[in-house]
Amino acid sequence: MAALGTPKSTIEILQKYGFNFQKKYGQNFLIDSHILEKIVQASGITKEDFVLEIGPGIGTMTQYLAENAREVVAVEIDRALIPILEDTLSDYQNVTVIHEDILKVDIKKLAEEKGADRPVKVVANLPYYITTPIIMGLFESRIPLHSITVMVQKEVADRMQVGPGTKDYGALSLAVQYYTKPEVVLQVSPTCFMPKPKVGSTVIKLTCHQNPPVKAEDEKLMFSLIRASFNQRRKTLVNGIGNAQNLRYTKEQVAAALEKLGLPSTIRGEELTLNQFAELSNMLYLLTGNCTYGKLEK
Ligand code: SAM
Repeated sequence: MAALGTPKSTIEILQKYGFNFQKKYGQNFLIDSHILEKIVQASGITKEDFVLEIGPGIGTMTQYLAENAREVVAVEIDRALIPILEDTLSDYQNVTVIHEDILKVDIKKLAEEKGADRPVKVVANLPYYITTPIIMGLFESRIPLHSITVMVQKEVADRMQVGPGTKDYGALSLAVQYYTKPEVVLQVSPTCFMPKPKVGSTVIKLTCHQNPPVKAEDEKLMFSLIRASFNQRRKTLVNGIGNAQNLRYTKEQVAAALEKLGLPSTIRGEELTLNQFAELSNMLYLLTGNCTYGKLEK
């Protein structure tokens, strides 16, 4: 099978199988070999590595990954692509294609079976409509992760890197920065895809921290507080957390914790740094214990 990654080879495959793009699956296939080479180079994969690819499409990037990694597992939701992938990846013995929704895959089990005690590297041109659940799912899967090198919508890459005081700052920024160090690899023009997306794209590498940059006694609690704060973005933290259905802290308890941290009771979540969220969760934990399980009558 000839190498993919050019407009000509992509059109040939699409015509051979009479493939129709499915907008609902965020299908924008890469047709630029330079971009593919840069992604694989930035991901730093070696012949020792197990790579998880999300959404292989017709197998363009999968070919590059298979050439460079020990083993590749590629998870694709679209049934129509499975026979195409069997064809385009037939030369590679180190690739397994799983026909499944990535949001339903047991990533932990997969990593245990294939990882061979090395942290997993994730490399993908992501389906943009589910970027956040995919990234959060990887963090929450608790698999040993080395890095996530992914193509995402430009605005999402921006959100991953910003700090407090900007409109893009939110739960995704805090999770990405808690678990990883984000670095932009390159900006990618819509002309590098077929069909062309309506948005700009960015390749970003998230290298996982060995130890998180801040100390949260109870990570789950910290992220519940973060979600509650940004669910009601324009509300004060006291109201956001006090009103959250899954948290049992009273507004007075939140105000008391903020005061102990030297923060005003009128402060909003979007003004807090990651370190301040960790401190707030530690303070609430200390003052009142973990109250994330069901709402109590106030
Ligand atoms: N990797 C290919 C490339 O670069 O040319 C295709 C990338 S395309 C942006 C996204 C791919 O993700 C498509 O093949 C799409 O069918 C697949 N996809 C969409 N939703 C998915 C899901 N929930 N689970 C697994 N794959 C999904």
